[in-house]
Amino acid sequence: MQITEMTAVELGKRIRGGELSATEAVEAVYGNYLSIDESIHAYTSFEIDRMRHNAQQVQDRIDRGKSGSVLAGVPIAVKDNICTRGELTTCASKILTGFRPPFDATVINKARAAGMVIAGKLNMDEFAMGSTSETSCYGPVKNPWNTEHVPGGSSGGAAAAVASGEAICALGSDTGGSIRQPASYCGVTGFKPTYGSVSRYGLIAYASSLDQIGPIAKDVLDCAAIMDVISGIDPMDSTSLPQGSGPSFYASMTGDVKEKVIGIPGECFDSAVDPDVLENVENAIREYEKLGAKIKPISLPFIRYAVPTYYIIATAEASSNLSRFDGIKYGFRSEDCDNIDDLIVNSRSEGFGAEVRKRILLGTFVLSSGYYDAYYNKALKMKQMIMDGFDAAFRECDVIICPTAPMTAPKLGSSLDDPMKMYLSDIFTVSVNLAGLPGLSVPCGFDRNGMPVGAQLIGAAGNDRTVLNMGHAFQLATDYHMRKPGGAK
Ligand code: GLN
Repeated sequence: MQITEMTAVELGKRIRGGELSATEAVEAVYGNYLSIDESIHAYTSFEIDRMRHNAQQVQDRIDRGKSGSVLAGVPIAVKDNICTRGELTTCASKILTGFRPPFDATVINKARAAGMVIAGKLNMDEFAMGSTSETSCYGPVKNPWNTEHVPGGSSGGAAAAVASGEAICALGSDTGGSIRQPASYCGVTGFKPTYGSVSRYGLIAYASSLDQIGPIAKDVLDCAAIMDVISGIDPMDSTSLPQGSGPSFYASMTGDVKEKVIGIPGECFDSAVDPDVLENVENAIREYEKLGAKIKPISLPFIRYAVPTYYIIATAEASSNLSRFDGIKYGFRSEDCDNIDDLIVNSRSEGFGAEVRKRILLGTFVLSSGYYDAYYNKALKMKQMIMDGFDAAFRECDVIICPTAPMTAPKLGSSLDDPMKMYLSDIFTVSVNLAGLPGLSVPCGFDRNGMPVGAQLIGAAGNDRTVLNMGHAFQLATDYHMRKPGGAK
């Protein structure tokens, strides 16, 4: 088996056993980057000299018996909105051209402490705003299953890199579905943890009350092992929670789902969903029944309000968060300015792409004094109702299952022309962020054109291990997660 085909856990085991080295692992990933990335465009930068140096240091630690962690020596690629010290971190935006943060995000610190090697920064929608990874200033990412299709977004680079073998595993961020939806479109596994279980320190903010870092990997076991590395309370993030520090995620993966009650929300299985998606997710539900889980119809009546609520709150927070990019402190500065006002206005107008500018305008509008009550305040009330609605649902079931997205990956160029349709395609993922819940996307089949379909498992806040274990049980019984683009297993 080639190194790049291994799961992170498998590769870690071989490195610990002395069969392979951290350096060989980084070279294998770099080799695939060189041969594949021209057609997929999953990365924004790959600073190989630094990575070789880091891999060597890690290997020395392993050789001296100083790093026995499960994932020591394993390369992990990182979305370009997570700060890596001294390495390019641009959010795929012109406004952060050349920005090299002077510090590591907490998740990066933790990954390095566990002996993981940060291998490359991943392409994404600019500032994580989008559902297709087409708004990157570097140009779009392509879906490895069919390069005429998008990989999903905004962590499209992460999902495409894992699916194509350009990465062993990756870190993404999810504000309204950006880990789960690209995982679903690319046939890989993506996990958005409970809000607060992973520190956001060093994640360049889009919408702080919704953003959460999480893993995109080849299977649930890898996601669990990565959660063991990155989760836990952090004094640098006042919203981080102790929950992440409980028992090992990885060791909690028993694969036993007997007597678990799975809620099926009727609202997510209606005629607006692609029939191939419905069929595959329904098959997944039958698989769970075979495994001994109980199925229970439930209702999530608020789901139709989720998209407008999300786009009001997310843009409001984005307009505030992105005010720090002024052409003075970081990255790009417009040449066209004679005074300070022009410098700020022109740097922002030239530095931000169209989607980001639109969202800043929308966010500023919903926060403006005349409209604050009509939009922002109302959205906050709706957010509370969504949380209450999920609380009620979780009194009836342990987890909820539904499609991750109502469709499979659309063709490149077809979404940005119809932004309303693109926003509406976030319908099944955004409410999970509004309520701060854990959500997992696992591959569960293919549509008539051979594009992957994902099933989403949602749990109550703090029940991350239950959600992951449900996904693990499914992967023990099926092999969708092992299929590779091009038909090879
Ligand atoms: N598609 C959603 C948006 O554009 C979600 C993005 C995300 O999760 N970062 O806002």
